Amino acid sequence: MKRDIREEKRKRVCRICGTKNAIVRKYGLMTCRRCFKDIAEKLGFKKYD
Ligand SMILES: [Zn+2]
Repeated sequence: MKRDIREEKRKRVCRICGTKNAIVRKYGLMTCRRCFKDIAEKLGFKKYD
């Protein structure tokens, strides 16, 4: 039994550091949580807790 992995087409990796861990897709940023935090501060987002 094989299942096609759709992630194959869309590689979910941080476009900044390239990690596959904890990718944030909110706002189409496609970054990991660390980079998102960094970007969020630059963009003026409020901190996520
Ligand atoms: Zn990153």
